[in-house]
Amino acid sequence: MRKINVFDTTLRDGEQSAGVNLNLEEKLEIARQLERLGVDIMEAGFPASSKGDFQSVQQIAKTIKNSSVTGLARAVQSDIDTAWEALKDSAEPRIHVFIASSPIHMQYKLNMTPDQVVERAVQSIKLAASKFPQVQFSAEDASRAELPFLARLVEEAIQAGATVINLPDTVGFTTPHEIGNMFAYMKQNVPSIEKVILSTHNHDDLGMAVANSLAAIQNGAGQVECTVNGIGERAGNAALEEISVALNIRKDYYKADTGLTLKEIKRTSSLVSKLANMPVPGNKAVVGANAFAHESGIHQDGMLKNKETYEIITPELVGVSESSMVLGKHSGRHAFKDKLTELGFAGDNTQFQQIFDAFKDLCDKKKEVTEDDLYALMTETMTDAIQESYELQTVQVNYGTNNIPTAAITMKLPTGEITQEAATGSGSVEAIYNTLERIIDGPVSLRDYRIQSVNGGGDALAEVYVQVKYDGIESSGRGTAHDVLEASAKAYINAVNRTLIRKAYGQEQNNKVNI
Ligand SMILES: [Zn+2]
Repeated sequence: MRKINVFDTTLRDGEQSAGVNLNLEEKLEIARQLERLGVDIMEAGFPASSKGDFQSVQQIAKTIKNSSVTGLARAVQSDIDTAWEALKDSAEPRIHVFIASSPIHMQYKLNMTPDQVVERAVQSIKLAASKFPQVQFSAEDASRAELPFLARLVEEAIQAGATVINLPDTVGFTTPHEIGNMFAYMKQNVPSIEKVILSTHNHDDLGMAVANSLAAIQNGAGQVECTVNGIGERAGNAALEEISVALNIRKDYYKADTGLTLKEIKRTSSLVSKLANMPVPGNKAVVGANAFAHESGIHQDGMLKNKETYEIITPELVGVSESSMVLGKHSGRHAFKDKLTELGFAGDNTQFQQIFDAFKDLCDKKKEVTEDDLYALMTETMTDAIQESYELQTVQVNYGTNNIPTAAITMKLPTGEITQEAATGSGSVEAIYNTLERIIDGPVSLRDYRIQSVNGGGDALAEVYVQVKYDGIESSGRGTAHDVLEASAKAYINAVNRTLIRKAYGQEQNNKVNI
């Protein structure tokens, strides 16, 4: 059985999805969960792109011990130097250097000749290899490159010291047959190919990212790049959970497997969905809410007699279990802490106390507190520590079918001052948002608003997601509360505070790259 390395890029390529803005605490939480899941490599960000990216790559590199942590760098000295500063303390420092390889990218993006591209790649890989024990080189847009040129570039990259060669389908253009040919061509035409691990990285623009990844594996790729839930630029990346479960269920066919702890998949998917503010569709393969539901009567009858009649993946394999009552009003501190640790909580005492208080408060309002509720409370406390932020003190709404909805809000300003405001709106939520707009310094407008219950049921927690534009910057926010209006106010303030953090860390510019 061949072992396929999993290179997760949820925190780099996934974080580039429109509307996703993870803060440092959230990135760390995802990184720790990816480590539990057992990914071989995680790409934590692009250190040279901003102060904020640098800091999160550095923190993740220092925290994670059982997965290799990597960061992206363009083929320029300053990017490579910055990546080294961010990654030098990691367990196995690894860099990911890239340069374009297709005629269209070389000519229109880089304005370089093919010879110049090879020369630049070689110089950068040599520099990277003088610092890093592991150097991954990516030939950006490889699926649209000319094969003889690509083979030459790859050979030169290996000679220069690359240990992993990635051939990405940057624009999601290729097909399983074509990508298979590309990998087979490299195996036949690159003399030093056996010295490196070949890697595949696919985008889902034509819905073929997972199929392309599997075809590349069949043709010699020993590493697969993917994101949790397939989040990523445009239509997203190949989905980690689909690739790893497909390899596991069909090992008879692929004769390859990942080393992932598959029962962590559901939890990883839920965490990323929540923190990235990207819901998982019900019919999504492996992790969708309906993936294990058998509605048809004929199915149910067959299932009762023998599960394998219709079920090819068991819910247990990927860690799907019935959401059950876990804790109640009389649960003590100790039991509560154990449960949080089991869920992966790694915060400090102040954060623990905050969650415990919120839990006790919730117990008064809700008779069964489930794992999902605890997750919601946990993610609610994951805010970066910055002094200058807005803090909701009280909110009061006056609503009646014959009245104009009116909201009154007391808020602590970033200066520390307490202020009060009131405004009306055509509905209760609008009244709250109109009031907040008056309090918040600078122009802010609502772009999107979504509400869902954490668990269903009459006494469920409400979770509100918003997208706002504040001071010219798009930002998303999340708020959880027992009451939908309070959750709505919290989500809006959360989005504004995230913008303040982004500005403080130099992340307001869209300086991401696309490979
Ligand atoms: Zn990509």
